[in-house]
Amino acid sequence: MDRPFVLASRKDGQGTTVSIPAAEGTVHIGGGHFVVIAGPCAVEGVEAYLALARRLKQIGVHVLRGGAFKPRTSPYSFAGLGLEGLEILAEARRQTGLPVVTEVLDPRDIEQVAACADLLQVGSRNMQNFSLLSEVGRSGKPVILKRGFSATIEEWLLAAEYILAAGNPQVVLCERGIRTFETYTRNTVDIAAVPVVKELSHLPVIIDPSHGTGRAELVRPVAKAGVAVGADGLMIEVHHCPSCALSDGQQSLDPLAFAALFAEVREMAQREGRRV
Ligand code: PEP
Ligand code: MN
Repeated sequence: MDRPFVLASRKDGQGTTVSIPAAEGTVHIGGGHFVVIAGPCAVEGVEAYLALARRLKQIGVHVLRGGAFKPRTSPYSFAGLGLEGLEILAEARRQTGLPVVTEVLDPRDIEQVAACADLLQVGSRNMQNFSLLSEVGRSGKPVILKRGFSATIEEWLLAAEYILAAGNPQVVLCERGIRTFETYTRNTVDIAAVPVVKELSHLPVIIDPSHGTGRAELVRPVAKAGVAVGADGLMIEVHHCPSCALSDGQQSLDPLAFAALFAEVREMAQREGRRV
């Protein structure tokens, strides 16, 4: 098959391993490692975030997440704490020694976001924001590129190509569900996209069962499906009180439910010989 992407294309040899240096030790994504990224949809306040970050570290997560700039469908919804949210993430990083990932919405914010975060997230709604892709490509920071909810796998890999072509080889793909006719779930997780991407590309690929399903009770089975199809990791929304969350509470796990899921997927991944 003729492939329109070049730098993202799998060639002979090993897949790319993205390495994220952190105080607690370098975190690797790809290359036989299995990573779990967890945290709330949005950073909502300093005390709650720091307490949750400590708990997540105790459970064993590798990377903390939390949105400071939130892309909301309605302009009247909570859009994140902005710069204050970034400072809270930086403090969580200092206190836990874990790397953090947060979404960047605007090329003008990249410098400030990159100063507080170890990985930049490009969200589903921005997957084809080509100027943002090129700018994160120039930032020198590892990037998690979420699949656009209406994007084909080829379009997704071409979006990754923009980042790679700008000189940044550190790209992690994240399948977070696509829009289909099904409405029971928020999105339809394209589980086959993981082995497809593994065949077409050398880039690591993770699954986000939280946005993928939109329903907390479906996060665990879909997370396990992600391990089974060979994903390099998971991104999961966790909130200290899902029913109080300012965004995505219905798909967020509380720390207890998350701890159980974590133990289960860790065992599963280890059984398959992955380093967790
Ligand atoms: C998120 O991770 O909080 C998010 C907004 O995800 P997505 O871009 O996949 O909707
Ligand atoms: Mn969310």
